[in-house]
Amino acid sequence: MSFCLIILAAGNSSRFRSNVGKPYQEIGGKSLIEINLIKARKFKQIKKIVLVYNRKDLKRLRKLKLKNVKFVVGGKSRRQSTFNALKYLINLKGFNKVLIHDVARPNFSTKLLRSILTKMGKAKAVVPKIKVQDAIKQIIDSSKEEYIVSKKRDDLFLTQTPQAFNLKEIYHLHKTSSSKYNDDDISLYMDLNKVKFIEGEKNNFKITDKLDFENLKNIYKSKMSVGIGFDVHRLVTNRKLFLAGLKIKSKIGTLGHSDGDPVLHAVTDAILGACAMGDIGLKFSDKKKRFKNIRSTILLRQIINQIKLKGYLINNIDINIITETPKIKNLKNKMTKNIAKICEISVDQINIKGKTTEKLGVVGKEKAIACEVICSVIKYD
Ligand code: ZN
Repeated sequence: MSFCLIILAAGNSSRFRSNVGKPYQEIGGKSLIEINLIKARKFKQIKKIVLVYNRKDLKRLRKLKLKNVKFVVGGKSRRQSTFNALKYLINLKGFNKVLIHDVARPNFSTKLLRSILTKMGKAKAVVPKIKVQDAIKQIIDSSKEEYIVSKKRDDLFLTQTPQAFNLKEIYHLHKTSSSKYNDDDISLYMDLNKVKFIEGEKNNFKITDKLDFENLKNIYKSKMSVGIGFDVHRLVTNRKLFLAGLKIKSKIGTLGHSDGDPVLHAVTDAILGACAMGDIGLKFSDKKKRFKNIRSTILLRQIINQIKLKGYLINNIDINIITETPKIKNLKNKMTKNIAKICEISVDQINIKGKTTEKLGVVGKEKAIACEVICSVIKYD
């Protein structure tokens, strides 16, 4: 089964009250758009992703440098935005199922998405729902007076996204029955026998205002863990010097099985530690020929891909480079940029400090370079 996914990010976030629209708000250095994408990309069945954006956000969207995402400009309402994306998808070949999802629900679990995709094998539409827990009242506005009716909460439920549909069917309903549309796409279905409702998730709440966003942040914070990394390499002649993935002009270089970059090795170990995934020696044995003289950037990149698949986001990295020479001061910015690029995070999530040992010991005598790192990560479900 091949799915396409529509992510709706075209709202004007008016209740959020911020210069930066909701889709572009960040947790752990990743925007809500990116968090949704990271989760969706775990599923090979999702072959095409369409992001519906608000024209006023185009600059911010471009800054995210998203790859393999089709951008479709949104309409004035959620319905129009969805229809714009459906109109694009209906002309593509090879897709029969579509997921429609609000960017403001980034906290769905991968378990929920897996269940939706699986259930679409038999159903025409799959929608997560949750029970109503508060008592419900409805204001009835008759021409003469307004009065309140209490509703039995057992008869009511709330619907969430992602919602899954047969692409042709939902396109047709949007085209022919748009007047029935009410807040979400499943509202177009009158024959509820066609719909498979599955248990939604309380934590898959919709971020509407800043308090919701704070709640989401707190959930992520409660899933934070920290790792430590340390490395030291001997300085010798006839070797190149690599620090933080950069080739540094130097008469002496570090000895090592790989390129001997103590900064990237300590960063890699700190990340692996935070994710409880072992250590660099375990992942890339120095007994193996294929790692001989390998650039540590390649090793770190592999680890970044592995932690992404396990659902980790890097929160911050703090680095001490302990060396007599070269001096780190003038290299700091370049190093920060390079590590940020490899780790796919922003520069403000990284801090680098240069330290000496006051000419004491092997580092002080310019016989070695050492590095220590602390990294914190956030895990999503
Ligand atoms: Zn090393």
